[in-house]
Amino acid sequence: MEYAENILETIGNTPLVKMNKLTAKLPCLVLAKYETFNPGNSVKDRMALQMIEDAEAAGILKPGGTIIEGTSGNTGMGLALAAVVKGYRMICVISDKQSKEKIDILKAVGSEVHVCPTDVAPDDPRSYYSTARRLSTEIPNSWYVNQYDNPSNAKAHYLTTGPEIWRQTDGKVTHFVVGVGTGGTISGVGKYLKEQNPDIKVWGIDTYGSVFKKYHETGIFDENEIYPYITEGIGEDILPKNVDFDIIDGFTKVTDKDAAVYTQRLAKEEGMFLGNSAGAAVKGLLQLKEHFNEDDVVVVLFHDHGSRYVGKIFNDDWMREQGFIE
Ligand code: PMP
Repeated sequence: MEYAENILETIGNTPLVKMNKLTAKLPCLVLAKYETFNPGNSVKDRMALQMIEDAEAAGILKPGGTIIEGTSGNTGMGLALAAVVKGYRMICVISDKQSKEKIDILKAVGSEVHVCPTDVAPDDPRSYYSTARRLSTEIPNSWYVNQYDNPSNAKAHYLTTGPEIWRQTDGKVTHFVVGVGTGGTISGVGKYLKEQNPDIKVWGIDTYGSVFKKYHETGIFDENEIYPYITEGIGEDILPKNVDFDIIDGFTKVTDKDAAVYTQRLAKEEGMFLGNSAGAAVKGLLQLKEHFNEDDVVVVLFHDHGSRYVGKIFNDDWMREQGFIE
């Protein structure tokens, strides 16, 4: 018999899938690291499990404890699955920008959900960062995960996602392109790949309304770069410790409209039913086309599944209201 002991054992070892149509005009081979095959339908299962197991090992998370996290949904899903299997209480603190589907899904896997306003500064007591911190001081035997600054986040990708990409491409990968939120994915994968071959280029996808690109290029944290945007999962108004700017070769910014339109195109033209940041990643990759040559093997990572966006990106009325389609 061949079976996993529990659902957490099925995390990782996701397929690498060739892109055929959307990237046809590029000279190189483009391969998608297809993270929706994880049990929580996103890449975040990897780091959620790593953060919990490292906290258990360090004695920070104890039996019967409560896990608290500020999360855009995917990390919450990964943490919730692990909390169910391992017997912890789970509280997700989420911003009101997130789709309703994400909130309902978190509740379905046993998480309590607190919704906080998006358009307040990170240090405002109403922000989801502040609320998560406050709950962790109020609830006994609780642990605030803090995926932004928790080193186990990037470590998960250094230990699993990076080695998988290296092995699956037979060490032929030349570029890694990925959306950046907490920075865990780009930093962990980027570090591992550059250790194998320092010539590999690592590109981050950022949004308009986020500080990353300007900070990377100038070293200046420019508050004028910060304004509300629609793309979910990538871009930040803070500098998370998990973003290792030194291993990143460059950022390109993708508009909300392009990210949404390319998310729809991924589904219709590649049969890849994916989340908002996947559209941003593939559009960003196309914006970088002058960096790619014939022999290059470009890996782009797609973080999460389209089912979480049926009320928005995959709802043409919503797309029209935003002015994203005619
Ligand atoms: N896309 C989606 C949908 C996400 O949930 C996240 C995590 N915020 C990212 C991209 C960015 O990944 P990371 O946090 O590892 O930078």
